Amino acid sequence: MNDRIYNFSAGPSMLPLPVLEQAAAEMTNYRGSGQSVMEMSHRSKVYQAIFDETKADLKRIMKVPDTHEILFMQGGATLQFAAAPLNLIGATGKADYAVTGNFSNLAMKEAKKYGDIRVAASSEDRDHCYIPSQDQLKVDPEASYFYYCSNNTIYGTEWKYVPDTGKVPLVCDMSSDIMSQPVDVSKYGVIFAGVQKNMAPAGMAVVFVDKALCGKALPITPKIMDYQIMIDKDSMMNTPPCYTIYMLGLVLKWVDKQGGIEGLQEIKKAKAKLLYDVLDESSLFKGHADREARSDMNVTFRTGSEELDAKFVKEATEAGFVNVKGHRNVGGMRASIYNAMPMEGARALADFMREFEIRNK
Ligand SMILES: *Cc1c(COP(=O)(O)O)cnc(C)c1O
Repeated sequence: MNDRIYNFSAGPSMLPLPVLEQAAAEMTNYRGSGQSVMEMSHRSKVYQAIFDETKADLKRIMKVPDTHEILFMQGGATLQFAAAPLNLIGATGKADYAVTGNFSNLAMKEAKKYGDIRVAASSEDRDHCYIPSQDQLKVDPEASYFYYCSNNTIYGTEWKYVPDTGKVPLVCDMSSDIMSQPVDVSKYGVIFAGVQKNMAPAGMAVVFVDKALCGKALPITPKIMDYQIMIDKDSMMNTPPCYTIYMLGLVLKWVDKQGGIEGLQEIKKAKAKLLYDVLDESSLFKGHADREARSDMNVTFRTGSEELDAKFVKEATEAGFVNVKGHRNVGGMRASIYNAMPMEGARALADFMREFEIRNK
């Protein structure tokens, strides 16, 4: 029955097929309630049960400690570029940013509206193909927080360590690698992720926030972006993205069936290896990222010829591998292999790359 393509989009991206099938089966009548989840009052008992179970599953799967609260917020990851400084920068008026790609750069620019922002590390000198090492981070002990993006979706690099910033709280954008490996949430002040890469359909961000840091938002902070108000209202200050939360709940049940985060970590490593082995053995394809910094989620590569890159993208699309064109900032190709990309998809693309190389030598 499988007429589905392999979608290597950077986001929104594939969702697990069993999740889509369950959502379809429950679409018009959710478990005997006589209504779709899309139609439910967010204040109803039936919806509250969906919400509570999703939140509890997320807490268990991500091992979120009791010191931290889970928030579901609209506005995607981009809203958090403003929410993080609005909520946290009041402590000292200053914050540090590690700029290792497009999204951390955008976050840094947004934060500049609200305080004194310093670039504590940057990989711009080599087109964001690497991640600065711990001793390259210039941490200001007076910063209200240290901000970084754990996986650079566009450049295909990933932080392999958690920065040590002493007492300065960490704020991390995990949009494109959340739930792909275990994370010690207790080490962070704030973790946020737009859900459309590894968690759910687009429409919200999941935020894990240390409650001790909340309640000190700048007075200009919109209510809907104030972490403390959202904590007090359990993410229901207004109508939450009800259906997206329901879909996240279905994805979390699927995560359990994959062996949880540890299971997914093994699978993603194997998928990434399939593609990186091709790059390592190839005399045609070259990876964008330095070996030590390679992302297991977004594999960026090129042939060295723009013409050949275009040919690759065209032929790959015709063969059923869609959205493999690289972001315009980097060029070349990018294969995003998030949790829902099946092993067979990664293997089929690796085979296609080998074949393409033979045909184009
Ligand atoms: C996709 C992405 C974003 C942007 O997410 P939106 O939900 O569209 O705002 C931000 N950061 C990272 C790392 C991303 O991959």
